[in-house]
Amino acid sequence: MNTDTQKLKSILDSSENIVFFGGAGVSTESGIPDFRSVDGLYNKKHKYPPETILSHSFFIEHTEEFYRFYREKMLYPDAKPNKAHIALAELEKRGKIKAVITQNVDGLHSEAGSTNVLELHGSALRNLCMTCGECYPIEKILQTEGIPLCTCGGVIKPDVVLYEEGLDYSVMSRAANAIYNADVLIVGGTSLNVYPAAGLINHYGGNKLILINKSETPYDHYADLIIRESIGLTLGEAVGIEA
Ligand code: ZN
Repeated sequence: MNTDTQKLKSILDSSENIVFFGGAGVSTESGIPDFRSVDGLYNKKHKYPPETILSHSFFIEHTEEFYRFYREKMLYPDAKPNKAHIALAELEKRGKIKAVITQNVDGLHSEAGSTNVLELHGSALRNLCMTCGECYPIEKILQTEGIPLCTCGGVIKPDVVLYEEGLDYSVMSRAANAIYNADVLIVGGTSLNVYPAAGLINHYGGNKLILINKSETPYDHYADLIIRESIGLTLGEAVGIEA
């Protein structure tokens, strides 16, 4: 274990009020790519950039094309939680973590066993009929072609926050509250460039801000500990998860 991981371990060992805030980098180690970082790959096959396809107006106006991209690039039904997800679930079990706040929509924190998960951008595991509100699992999207329809005839929309859509107010305020009251805040796998989720960090007033991210973030100068290693490896070691 290197010095930084050792430092992280002793912070985790001595706190019982930790909050984790994570982004796409938490799931890349489960084989789910960050679509923002590989923009170029998609331009070959799709006429529009991912930010356009994953917008509310595009969903409404080009629903079938939205689903073509969404099924191919956004859904990873075989992805499994990695050591980062497992370590965070273990910390919750030990009574140390109060909340896991995520920008990811893959549901892997819950699958790993975390129960207080705040999904800022919703979940691809839930899909709602726009007419009657009926909820469908991810299989409904994977096992259909074209536009998935409800038994009532309504169009089904993934319960994920698209571009142009606002975040859920109650999830946001619970996340802000958890961060405000946290003793330790671990921020991982996010470059903190996506607003307004990134602004949540400003609610933290403590002196144990830990950043685990491979590249620099605008918050680096506020951090009390910066780790540039793999988040799965780092958290796995600090929490003592077996290989
Ligand atoms: Zn319906």
